[in-house]
Amino acid sequence: MTLDQLLADCRVPVLGICAYSGTGKTTLLLKLLPLLAERGVKVAVLKHAHHNFEVDKPGKDSFEIRKSGADQVLIASSQRRALMMERPVDGDPCLKELLAMVDQDRVDLILVEGFKRLPLPKLELHRAAVGKPFVFDQDSLIKAIACDADTVLPSDCALPRLDINDVAAIGDHIQQFMANWQPVGVQPFGPCCDAFERKQLSVKQGIERILAMVTPITTTETVALTDAIDRVLAEPAISPINVPQHTNSAMDGYACAFDASIAQYQVMDTVFAGHAYAGELQAGQAVKIMTGAPMPAGADTVIMRELARQEGDVVRFEDGIERGQHVRQAGEDIAIGEQALPAGDRVKPATVGLLASLGIAQPRVYRRPKVAIFSTGDEVCSPDEPLKPNCIYDSNRYSLHGLLAKLDVEVLDLGVIEDNQAAMEQALRDAAAQADIVLTSGGVSVGDADFIKDALEQTGEINFWKIAQRPGRPLAFGTVDGTLFFGLPGNPVATMVSFMQFVQPTIRKMAGEANWQPTLMRAISTTALRSRVGRTEFMRGIMTLGAAGQLHVSSTGAQGSGMLSSMTSANCLIVIEEPQESVAVGDTVWVQPFSDLL
Ligand code: AMP
Ligand code: MG
Repeated sequence: MTLDQLLADCRVPVLGICAYSGTGKTTLLLKLLPLLAERGVKVAVLKHAHHNFEVDKPGKDSFEIRKSGADQVLIASSQRRALMMERPVDGDPCLKELLAMVDQDRVDLILVEGFKRLPLPKLELHRAAVGKPFVFDQDSLIKAIACDADTVLPSDCALPRLDINDVAAIGDHIQQFMANWQPVGVQPFGPCCDAFERKQLSVKQGIERILAMVTPITTTETVALTDAIDRVLAEPAISPINVPQHTNSAMDGYACAFDASIAQYQVMDTVFAGHAYAGELQAGQAVKIMTGAPMPAGADTVIMRELARQEGDVVRFEDGIERGQHVRQAGEDIAIGEQALPAGDRVKPATVGLLASLGIAQPRVYRRPKVAIFSTGDEVCSPDEPLKPNCIYDSNRYSLHGLLAKLDVEVLDLGVIEDNQAAMEQALRDAAAQADIVLTSGGVSVGDADFIKDALEQTGEINFWKIAQRPGRPLAFGTVDGTLFFGLPGNPVATMVSFMQFVQPTIRKMAGEANWQPTLMRAISTTALRSRVGRTEFMRGIMTLGAAGQLHVSSTGAQGSGMLSSMTSANCLIVIEEPQESVAVGDTVWVQPFSDLL
């Protein structure tokens, strides 16, 4: 496992402390922890122990309960809790799994003690008197060495040297490490070395290579608000007004300059939304006011109608009123001159609502990308014709239409092109001349790649990649007459999965969407799943909310890459990462919900 894979889920810095026994790791920790606590750093410590360690004592209820066969014992009081689990493994426990068990929302730093040789940034401790060799010359992840005065470091050692007895300096070093630390981020598609060896690209490598070739559209136009939905804003929305425009009432009730010593107020007028009280309220005066109506000059508080008793033109209020309550301040939502929306935002229903609330009736948006699509294959038949023998209906063009509609692009449909090099070349040239992206399906796997491959060799610069994923291993990508080209695999599920992973980020970047990332969530698998080390498996899944409020996911069943029914019954892809061989019931997996697209 690489450093990035190990730390992919970590939201706080993780630092290993490594040393031979006898160096004084624990002694140092016991001085370091109070120092860090005093400096406001909350620390979790993950400690390696010998294989049959005990935290409990024979005779204690919790000990006996565990020994009687409880798989997990959670013992808790008002002060602390301890979870004991029986999890026998061969060799060391998996550090990634252990890191995931730490409540990272409550700590600023995780110190790991005793897991040697793991790909973690580390601080080495060394004392000359212990008579052991250095670790850093074997381990490039050691970032500093804390040693005693007797230690002689090799002259070519470039590591920062700290005094092992100067706890404050070690504390400073750790805080510096924390300040420089950058989360690895969510990286479910990270490469595994196996994929390199087999000359395949990982999903992440494929996406990176493709995105490096994408130039965002810069042409803009203005559109009416009702046409702005799903378009991408080309300018930030700067508010020309305060929202709300005036300080106003958040309730139906009475507005006054509240004074707890005044028992009753004279009701001067009634103010409706869209109107204003002309005068200024004096002490002991109130107005009856409706939600949204501007606060009269002199008023600072609204008392809801239910807490007021009006008799004639005199009103009394119940106790417990707080001065300033139920008043919305002018500019409280958005102040005049403030950026309400950044450029690069895709317009959602709330976005159009917000633009409207600012009086921006003609937002400036980027031109839509134009995408040309066609299907390939002699066997592929249009659904409005009778099905010929040995043929299949074209489903890919229709799934692609659906996916493209969700991304609000202009679609140019060039139909089905037969397996014939001249026809293919002509179609590619026509498509490239008119569109920003050309998408085809079929004809890129080894068996029948010849026509499209030859046609592409004539018309463009195309790479035929093998992506370490299933479904959707073959992918052709490059340019035809300078226009981006994707040759998606022909199998209908593979077409859609490859679209989601590779074409979707391309279109979003080209459309001007800033920093789009796919939505990925963690869910507990309720199905046992098999994959293969070295490839990313995208299984069709059904996410549901479990009884305990956690997200659960199950497979839709048979996963053939031609079985579109596995897509229609799914609401997400289950993403099994490259290093993983299988998923057991109860394991946590990544899921990519369809809600972005499908
Ligand atoms: P190919 O990559 O062209 O060998 O296609 C792989 C499989 O996907 C074959 O079984 C094709 O018949 C099928 N296929 C190709 N294009 C389409 C399409 N447009 N709609 C449905 N299935 C297709
Ligand atoms: Mg074909």
